Amino acid sequence: MNANENNYLQQDRVDMVTIDSIQTLLVDLPTIRPHQLSMTTMKGQTLMLVRIHCSDGSVGIGEGTTIGGLAYGAESPESMKLNIDTYFTPLLLGQPADQVPFLMQQLETAIRGNRFAKSAIETALYDALGQRLNLSVAELLGGSLRKSLPVAWTLASGDTAKDIDEAEEMLARRRHRIFKLKIGTRDVAKDIAHVAAIKKALGDRGAVRVDVNMAWSELEARYGVDGLADVGCELVEQPVACADALKRLTAQAKIAIMADELLVGPASAFELAKNNAAHVFAIKVEQSGGLRASQKIAAIAEAANIELYGGTMLEGAIGTVASAHAFATFHALQWGTELFGPLLITEEILATPLVYENFELQIPQGPGLGIALDEERVQFFNRAQRQKSVSLATGA
Ligand SMILES: [Mg+2]
Repeated sequence: MNANENNYLQQDRVDMVTIDSIQTLLVDLPTIRPHQLSMTTMKGQTLMLVRIHCSDGSVGIGEGTTIGGLAYGAESPESMKLNIDTYFTPLLLGQPADQVPFLMQQLETAIRGNRFAKSAIETALYDALGQRLNLSVAELLGGSLRKSLPVAWTLASGDTAKDIDEAEEMLARRRHRIFKLKIGTRDVAKDIAHVAAIKKALGDRGAVRVDVNMAWSELEARYGVDGLADVGCELVEQPVACADALKRLTAQAKIAIMADELLVGPASAFELAKNNAAHVFAIKVEQSGGLRASQKIAAIAEAANIELYGGTMLEGAIGTVASAHAFATFHALQWGTELFGPLLITEEILATPLVYENFELQIPQGPGLGIALDEERVQFFNRAQRQKSVSLATGA
C-alpha cells in the first residue's frame, strides 16, 4: 500500500471510529462425549475469544478454535491468545475500525501464517462493524442467499452400536439426517464393516459419509473408497495426505472425494482445482484464513465446477455463527455443512441459544454476528478466572 492510499483511509475523518482495546481469553468447555478422530481424541474444547472495543462503544467478538490443541494444525488457542496480545494488538490499536480489508491487509503484511488468529480478528471487526451499520456479517460480506443451513452430525464415539443409537436419536429429534463417520484408526476392512453396519441400520433415512483425516496410504484408500462405495457411503473426506494421491483417487472414485486438510487458503484451493484433485471442497473459515478468504475459495470452486461443503473446526457458538454468515453467501452449498460444534459442548455461553431445528441451523439475523454472550457463563469458564480461584483457595 502506498502513502496516498493510506492517507485516503485515515485523513479527513473527524468521525472516524478507531480500535480502542483488544481483549483475549481462553474458555475451557466440557464436551458431551469423547470425540475420536484419526489423529486425536478430544475430551473437551478450548475457545480463544477475542473482543475488540471501538471508540464509539461498539464491541465485536471473534473466536479461534482448533481440534485437539495442536493435533490438527500449527496453531493452538493458547498460541492465538499469545500472538494476538503480543503482535496483533499493537498493530491494530488506534486504527480505523471500519476499514476491515485494510486492517487485514496490514496484518497479512506484518504477520506470517496465523490464519486462525487472523480469522478471529476479522470476525470481531466485522461483528463490530455490523453493529455500527445495523447489517449482519453476511450482508457485510455481500449478502445472504439462505436463512438456514443443513447440518451434518459426526458419529465419532469409536463404537458401532453407540454410533447407531446416536444417529437414531438425531433422526428422531429431526436434528440431523446427514452423518459423518470418523474413521482411519482401525484397519480398513474393520472401518468398512463399521460404516456398512451404520448405513444398513439407517437405510434411506440418513446419508452416510466418512472422514479419514489423511490416515490412509494411497493403496489403502483405493481399496477403502471402493469398499465404502459398495456399502452405500456417498462421500470420502481427505482419505490421504498427499495432493497427487488425492487427484488419482478422485479420477477413479465412484463416490465423491472431498478435500479438507489440504485446503489452507485460496492459493491451495487454486492448486487443487487446477489439478482436479477433489470433487468437493470442505471450506473452513479458520483454515481459509478468515471470512473473506473463505469466499475466495468458494469462488475458485465455483469456477472449477467443484461442489461445496461448509466445514467446522468444532468451533463454539461464535466461530460457528461466523462460519454460517460466510456460508450463507456462497452461491452453491451442495453438501450442506457440519456446523454442529456448539452441540458437542455441554455448556451454553450465548444469552440466546442457537436454534437447530428440522435438520438445519437457523442463521441469527441481528446486526453483526447477531449473537450476544452470556457474560457470567463465559467468566465462569474463563481459564484465567479459574486459575485465580484455584490459587486463592490453595493460597498459592
Ligand atoms: Mg475433515
